[in-house]
Amino acid sequence: MATLPSLTDLALSAFEPLAAELGEPRFAGKNLRRWVFERHARDFAAMSDLSKRFRAALAERFVVRRTAIAADRADPGGTRAFVLRLADGKTIETVLIPEEERRTVCVSTQVGCPVACVFCASGLDGLIRNLTPGEIIEQVLVVQEALPPGESVTNVVVMGIGEPTMNLPALEQALATWNDPAGLGLGARRITISTVGFPARIDRLAALKKEFGLAISLHAPRQELREKLLPNAGGILLRDLLAATRRWFDATGRRVTFEYVLLDGINASEREATELAALLRGFPCHVNLIPVNPVDGLPYRRPAPDAIDRFKAILLGAGLDATVRHPRGDGIAAACGQLRLKVEQDESRATTPRA
Ligand code: SAH
Repeated sequence: MATLPSLTDLALSAFEPLAAELGEPRFAGKNLRRWVFERHARDFAAMSDLSKRFRAALAERFVVRRTAIAADRADPGGTRAFVLRLADGKTIETVLIPEEERRTVCVSTQVGCPVACVFCASGLDGLIRNLTPGEIIEQVLVVQEALPPGESVTNVVVMGIGEPTMNLPALEQALATWNDPAGLGLGARRITISTVGFPARIDRLAALKKEFGLAISLHAPRQELREKLLPNAGGILLRDLLAATRRWFDATGRRVTFEYVLLDGINASEREATELAALLRGFPCHVNLIPVNPVDGLPYRRPAPDAIDRFKAILLGAGLDATVRHPRGDGIAAACGQLRLKVEQDESRATTPRA
């Protein structure tokens, strides 16, 4: 039997027309929307303020899906990585990062990734498929439901598996559903999108005129080095990327974060620090230096602590705002698809592959 579509895949604006189509008043559509996104209902029987007839009609046509948790590992620092199994058996990773009052969820947008950054676990097998809007949205619902009573998701970072701007319509629906008061009602400033930075796609996100956070995975101050590290983002000229980032700032008033993964012997010397400082001087931005999380089978290592300090000091000396991201979730391989990879490898060692 084919599975019915899930209401979590529906745009917020589709609920009232759906009610009308099924012969119900529009406010019943609003109530339904509230059950799905605010009240975390999973079955129609629980939706007590909808008419029996409406509930029966819905049950024939839809489910309220919830992507299943296949593995859940916490590290001593409190970071919790979830491997989620999608309806078609494929897996993605979602991470909860608790910090003081914040509960941040790091979500995936694709199964696999087409960009294949050389140090990243997510792109090793290329892109398998895009996530649907509901599969992206549900990751926040799943984590919310795993939190102890009284705790709520406060922030979302789109920094998990996949290149979000290469699944743009689904991303836009997820952003709207998280942000809109009729959805989850998370403020735009609490939602950050991380991207390798296709200029036209940045412009399209800027056109939403929302104060979402934007993080650009820069990783190199020179075109030729960036193309080596991000082979499938080679068409992006640094010049065009910076111009698009500037337009983003003009449209949203929010300075961007440049992410820079530090790879020993490759992009982390004083030469690169000096070049990066020159490239970004005067730019309204924050630089986040990320000592690489080594991935099994890949040769990349973190620079020594004093080399990291020197790199940062050069940026600060040029008047830039720079911080080092202290590795979180090392014990559970939380960086970008690493736990998923581990679970998949364990499973393929333990079982014969599914057809
Ligand atoms: N595709 C998007 C979002 C996902 S990756 C992007 O590239 O921005 C989120 C961040 O984690 C990116 O900056 C990415 O370069 C970084 N990352 C990937 N693999 C990593 C690793 N092994 N160690 C540290 N950071 C990594």
